[in-house]
Amino acid sequence: MDKQTPVSIFWFRRDLRLDDNAGLYYALKSGDPVLPVFIFDPAILDQLKDKDDARVTFIHETVTAIDAELREQGSGLLVLFDKPENAWKKLVEEYKIAAVYTNHDYEPYAKVRDEAIAAQLEKHGIAFNTYKDQVIFERDEVIKDDGKPYTVYTPYMRKWYQKLTPFYLKAYPNKKYLKNFYQTKALYLPSLKQMGFEISGLEFPKIHYKELIAHYAEKRDFPAIKGTTHIGLHLRFGTVSIRELAAAVNSFTEKTWLNELVWREFYMMILYHFPHTADHAFRPEYDRIKWENNEKQFEAWCKGETGYPLVDAGMRELNTTGYMHNRVRMVVASFLSKHLLIDWRWGERYFARKLLDYEMASNVGGWQWSAGSGTDAAPYFRIFNPESQLKKFDAKLEYVKKWVPEYADFSKYPKPIIDHAFARDRCLAAFKEALAK
Ligand SMILES: Cc1cc2nc3c(=O)[nH]c(=O)nc-3n(C[C@H](O)[C@H](O)[C@H](O)COP(=O)(O)OP(=O)(O)OC[C@H]3O[C@@H](n4cnc5c(N)ncnc54)[C@H](O)[C@@H]3O)c2cc1C
Repeated sequence: MDKQTPVSIFWFRRDLRLDDNAGLYYALKSGDPVLPVFIFDPAILDQLKDKDDARVTFIHETVTAIDAELREQGSGLLVLFDKPENAWKKLVEEYKIAAVYTNHDYEPYAKVRDEAIAAQLEKHGIAFNTYKDQVIFERDEVIKDDGKPYTVYTPYMRKWYQKLTPFYLKAYPNKKYLKNFYQTKALYLPSLKQMGFEISGLEFPKIHYKELIAHYAEKRDFPAIKGTTHIGLHLRFGTVSIRELAAAVNSFTEKTWLNELVWREFYMMILYHFPHTADHAFRPEYDRIKWENNEKQFEAWCKGETGYPLVDAGMRELNTTGYMHNRVRMVVASFLSKHLLIDWRWGERYFARKLLDYEMASNVGGWQWSAGSGTDAAPYFRIFNPESQLKKFDAKLEYVKKWVPEYADFSKYPKPIIDHAFARDRCLAAFKEALAK
C-alpha cells in the first residue's frame, strides 16, 4: 500500500493482544486499513533502574509476537522508540491518517500524555478515538447515588455487581476483521539493546487460571501453595482480556476471585478520581506522620534480612521471581510502615521496581491500606504481628524454608532488627501524635 492511502492508526499501550480488544475492534471496523503502532516511551523507560528490567523484556517479547501474528495477515506492527509527541509528529508527516484509535489509560502520566496527543492531532484535523478496554467498569460508571465516587470498597463492590449484565462481558470479535490491517512489509522493531536494555532472565507466568479459581477461596491465603493465578502481569499489559476472565467466573467460590478483580477496578477508579494519592496519603492527616526512615533498616527489609522469617521470605521471593504472595505483601508492607516507621512511599517505589505485576493503582492502594492512610485502610492501631501471621498462614514453615534456607539453623539466621513490642508502641505513639493535630 502506498503512503497516500488513508489509514486508521491503532495505538497499542497496555492492551497487547489482537483479540477482544475494544479500540482495535473499532479501528478495524472504521473502513480504512489499520496501521498498528506501539511506542516505547523514553520518559517511562528512563525511570527504570535495572537494565534487565523484566517488564521491558516482557513487552518486547509480546510486541514481537504480535508483529509475527500480523505478518501472517500481510501486515506488521510499527514499533517506535521516541517521545510520544515526536512519534506522532513523524506519523502525521508520513501517513495520511484518517483517525487514531486507542484504549483508555487511567494513570496520571497517561492522562496528561493522551490529552496532549489528542490536542496535537486535532491541529491536523485527526480524531483521537478512545475506548474502555482494561476494566469492566471505569471512571464514573460505578458511583454513589449522589454522583460522587465511592471511597469504600464494599458499597462499590455491591453497586458493581448490580450493574453487571452479560453485555459487559461480551468479547469483541476482532478476529473476524483481521484482513483489515494495513498491508505492508516495511515495518520496524527496535531491539532491546538499541533501547539500552538487556534480556531479563526471569520466567513469566503463563495464563492459567481456570483450575485455580475453582479452589481459590480455600487456597488463596497460603503462600506455600500455588493457590492464586499469578495473572497480574497479563492484566497489567493486557495480554489477557478482563472480559474473558470475568466471564469465566460461574460459581460462588469463583466469585471470591472476581471480588479481587473488582478490587483492581476500585483502586483504578480511586487513582483516577484522586490522582494525588499516587504519592500522598488518601487521608491527608497521615502525611503528618514523623517517619524514622532508617536507611540501614530499609536495606535490611529490601534484602530480606530483618530477622522476621515471613517478612524475609516475602522479600526474597520478590527479589528472585518478581512476584510476592498477597498475604505476604500485606505483612511486609505493614512491617515497613508500622514496625520500622519507614515512609510507605519508599516501599511502594521498591515494589514498583521489582514487581512483574506492578500496577500503580493497586500498588498505591495496597501500600496505603497497609500503612493505614488509604481508602479502606486497616485502622492504624491494628498492627500485623509477623510471628502470628507466620503461625496462621505458613504453620509448617514450608514457604519460609523455601526462601530462607538458613532459618533451619538459628545460628545463621539474623536476630530481629527490631523488637515487636517496642515497634508496636512506637508506631502507636507516632500515629497518635500525627492524627491528634
Ligand atoms: C502492599 C501491596 C502492594 C500491591 N501491589 C500490587 C501491584 O502493584 N499490582 C497488582 O496487580 N496488585 C498489587 N497488589 C494486590 C495483590 O497483592 C496482587 O494483585 C496479587 O497478589 C497478585 O497475584 P495473583 O495475580 O496471583 O492474584 P489473584 O489472587 O489470582 O487475583 C487475580 C487478580 O485480581 C487482582 N487483585 C487481586 N488482589 C487484589 C488486590 N488486593 N488489590 C487489587 N487487585 C487485586 C490482580 O489483578 C490479580 O492479578 C498489592 C497488594 C499489597 C498489599
